[in-house]
Amino acid sequence: MKKIAVIGFAKSGKGALALLKRKMGDAQFALFDDKLADGVNIFPISEYKDDFDLTVISPGIPPKRLPEIKGEILNEIDLAYAELEKESRVIGVTGTNGKSTVTHLAAQILNNLSVDAVACGNIGYPFSNAVMSRGGRGVFVTELSSFQIELMKNIEIAACSVTNLTPDHLDRYNSVEEYYNAKLRALYFVRENGLVTAGLNPLIANNALKHRLKVLYIDDDLESFPKKIGDKLDFGPFYIDVRGFHLFGRHNLVNLSHALLLASSVLPLEGDATDLIGVLTAMPHRTEYIGSAKGVAWINDSKATNVDSTLTALKSCFYPTAVLLGGRDKRGDFRRLAGELNRCAKEICLFGEAAHIIGGQLEGLVKADLIYTGDLKDTVKYLSREDGLNTVILSPGCASFDEFANYEERGDKFAEYFKLFALEDNLSGDRI
Ligand code: ADP
Repeated sequence: MKKIAVIGFAKSGKGALALLKRKMGDAQFALFDDKLADGVNIFPISEYKDDFDLTVISPGIPPKRLPEIKGEILNEIDLAYAELEKESRVIGVTGTNGKSTVTHLAAQILNNLSVDAVACGNIGYPFSNAVMSRGGRGVFVTELSSFQIELMKNIEIAACSVTNLTPDHLDRYNSVEEYYNAKLRALYFVRENGLVTAGLNPLIANNALKHRLKVLYIDDDLESFPKKIGDKLDFGPFYIDVRGFHLFGRHNLVNLSHALLLASSVLPLEGDATDLIGVLTAMPHRTEYIGSAKGVAWINDSKATNVDSTLTALKSCFYPTAVLLGGRDKRGDFRRLAGELNRCAKEICLFGEAAHIIGGQLEGLVKADLIYTGDLKDTVKYLSREDGLNTVILSPGCASFDEFANYEERGDKFAEYFKLFALEDNLSGDRI
């Protein structure tokens, strides 16, 4: 009887196990993780003994934590890829920021074109689960984290986006280069003549050249490609009227551009494609419009857990905006926000554990009032009574763990408090 180990028993480990059980139900399985789960027999990783025929490694386990493995090693992505029907294909999405949004948008656009496509992978729906539930058929728009790409060996990507590269995950990688190389390894798996879209970046360009890939580079200002002239965003063979797109912020126009081009690699677009974009929805907690009250638009960007993400969101805000910063400090440099804050902020509300740390950094650098508002609930209560604003944005630049289990809970509470306090005399919530 074959002996199979699964190291790491979070979402993708569970997906891999389900797939393996279906394929090799008579094998003997052992699960390893340092976190226990109710009702499941899980051993600590330190108890792994190298006597398995096959070991499946989950991307969340840092290589430093892995034991020595002599038997065959597999990962969830390759494992599920082997189950795809011949005519099915994988579209890969990687990069530092915008992955989930591009993945989510590309799958929606393909669905609008009546293509059987699904958003999966690191977005929260494991590739293996998506493959199993669809019998291996369809287009799998798959968000790939650097940790997943590191483990991949045997997959063909039909089209791929590398949205951008900025420093991240330095707790896991020894250097920024190591992290970038892990992301760029995705290009190695793109099939010949497969489309690649990417942010303007010499590292991406060098790697694409190495793999002889044709890349469509998207510049953040949308000045060269695609070209934005007035409300028209021109991609050459097709164009859209951006007034038909309802996601907040210029960065989402960049994300939309990647998504449209990826979709076009499956079914070429021609002429006016505006009809495809009107019904697209945002990913929750990413510059997500949650409603308006007294003419003020409220935006939930709880996923902005670092200063870079907050900076991106602020670029799309205009005076007079109220900006909510705070949570658990991650040693971010908030002074980097001073320029954008001076352009768009009327009030800066500092909340949670990091309030005074952020206040100390911004004091003297920003023109707007710095207001210490307590916890998130008190902050929303305070802002619901304020006049003379056009936007309120929660883009905290910090982790959420001082008050909440995760950024999702923080964003949900923000929306709940908004309904409770701000909407009380404007129950319509209509968009301004
Ligand atoms: P990821 O999946 O890569 O973490 P998301 O789509 O979840 O990316 O977006 C997370 C945050 O990243 C957003 O709230 C926004 O602040 C920032 N972001 C999104 N798209 C872009 C982009 N194209 N360029 C820069 N920052 C972006």
